[in-house]
Amino acid sequence: MQSSQNEIKNTSFDFQTQLDKQLEGFDEKHPPKQDLIDTCVHCGFCLSTCPSYRVIGKEMDSPRGRIYLMDAINKGEAALTEATTEHFDSCLGCLACVSTCPSGVEYDKLIAATRPQVERNQPRSLWDKLYRSLIFNLFPYPKRLRPLLMVLWLYQISGLQKLIRGTGWLKFFSPRLAAMESILPNIKLQNLWQELPDIIPAQNQKRYRVGMILGCVQRLFFSPVNEATARVLTANGCEVVIPKTQGCCAALPAHQGQENQAQALAKQMIDSFADTDVDYIIINAAGCGHTLKEYAHILQDDPEYKAKAEAFVAKVRDVNEFLAEVGLTAELSPITPEPTTLVYQDACHLLHGQKISLQPRQLLRNIPDITLKEPVDAALCCGSAGVYNMLQPQVADELGQQKVDNLLNTGAKMIASSNPGCSLQIVKHLKLQGKEMKVKHPMELLDASIRGEKIEI
Ligand code: SF4
Ligand code: SF4
Repeated sequence: MQSSQNEIKNTSFDFQTQLDKQLEGFDEKHPPKQDLIDTCVHCGFCLSTCPSYRVIGKEMDSPRGRIYLMDAINKGEAALTEATTEHFDSCLGCLACVSTCPSGVEYDKLIAATRPQVERNQPRSLWDKLYRSLIFNLFPYPKRLRPLLMVLWLYQISGLQKLIRGTGWLKFFSPRLAAMESILPNIKLQNLWQELPDIIPAQNQKRYRVGMILGCVQRLFFSPVNEATARVLTANGCEVVIPKTQGCCAALPAHQGQENQAQALAKQMIDSFADTDVDYIIINAAGCGHTLKEYAHILQDDPEYKAKAEAFVAKVRDVNEFLAEVGLTAELSPITPEPTTLVYQDACHLLHGQKISLQPRQLLRNIPDITLKEPVDAALCCGSAGVYNMLQPQVADELGQQKVDNLLNTGAKMIASSNPGCSLQIVKHLKLQGKEMKVKHPMELLDASIRGEKIEI
C-alpha cells in the first residue's frame, strides 16, 4: 500500500516537473519587452507584406502571430517548445513588417530579443545543431572558408558538381545541404587571394578619410565588388583605409541569435578601426551594414565596449547612403554601347532595416543612358535573408522564384543588387528558370561608368 502511494506521489511529481518543463519560457536575460509587445493592436496590416505568411499562410508564421506567441510565453501561458520555436525560425528577419506597421511596433527589437532566447533555452536536434554549427564556424571566418573554397573549386572544375546537380542526389540526402550547394557561385581562384592595400590614396582633392569593411562572404565570393567600391570612393575624393585585422561584421550570428559569437566579432571589428582616425566607416553589403549599425545594442551589457560601440555606429554608412550624401564628383559615362534598362532590387536590410531606398536609385540614375525600372513587390524579400535560404530552403525557394519573376517582368536588361546574399539567391533562381542576366552591385556599375568601361549585356 505504502509503495503504491509512493508510486502515485512520484508519478504526480514527475508530471509536475514535466509540466514545469513544458511551460518553461524565456529566461531573465533581455526577453522581448512587454511594453513593445503591447504596442501591437493586432490590426493585421502587416500580414500581406510578410513573406513567411505569404508562403506558409498561417497566422503563427506572421508578425502578429509571432507577437501573440511572445506575449503568451512572456506571461507564462505558452512554453518555448520545438513547436513554438518553429514559428520564430520561419521568420526571415526581413523587417517588412516594421516598415508597414501603422502603430510603429518595433518587431525588429522583439525578434532580436527572441532569437538568443531560443538558442539558449530550446535544444535543437543533433542534425540541426551540426548543420548550424557548420554554418557558424565556417562562413564568418574567411581564413577557414578559403581552404574549403579551394576544394569546392576542384569540385566545380572536375565536373563533379554537374554530376551531383544532375542526379539530384544531394536534395534527396539533405535538402538543406542541397540548398547550400545550390547557391555556390562559380569560384575563381584569383578572387580568393586578392588583397586590397591598407591605404588607398584619394584621387584629385581629398575630401574624406574613410574606413572600408570587406565582409566575409563579400571578400571571397565578390572581391570585384570590393575593388569597385574602393575605386569609386577614391575617384570621389576619399582616402580609403582597410585594416586587415577586421573579421566578420557579426551579421550572420547576430541574425540567428548566436549572441556570444556576435559580441566577440563586433568587438574585433571595433578594435580594428580603433586607431584609424577615419571620418566614416563604409560598408557595401546591406545585411552587414544593418548589423554594424546595431553594435550599440549587441554590446549593450558590455561596460568596456558600450561607448566604443556607440562611437563606431555614429560613423557607419552604407556606401550608397554615403555617396548620395556627399555627392559624386567623378565624371560618369555610359556603360553600354546603346541606352539600356536596369532594375534595382531592394535588399531588405537596406530598405526596411536602414530605410535606404532612394539613394542607390539616385546614384544609378546619374549613369548616362540608363533607365531604371521598378518591379512589382519591390519590398518583398527574395528569400536569401542571411542564411535563411540554407536553413529554410522551401520557403526561400518560393520567394526566390517570385522575386526573379518580378524582376524579369520589368523587361530590364540588367539587375542591380546591394547585398551579396540577394545576388547569390537571384543568380540561382535565374539559372533555375534558364535565364541569363547580369546581376551587378551598384558600385560595379558606377565604377564602370567612372572608368569608361562597357558592360556586355
Ligand atoms: S505588428 Fe503592427 S501591423 Fe501588425 S498586427 Fe501589430 S499593430 Fe498591426
Ligand atoms: S521580419 Fe519579415 S518574415 Fe519576419 S515577421 Fe516581419 S515581415 Fe514577416
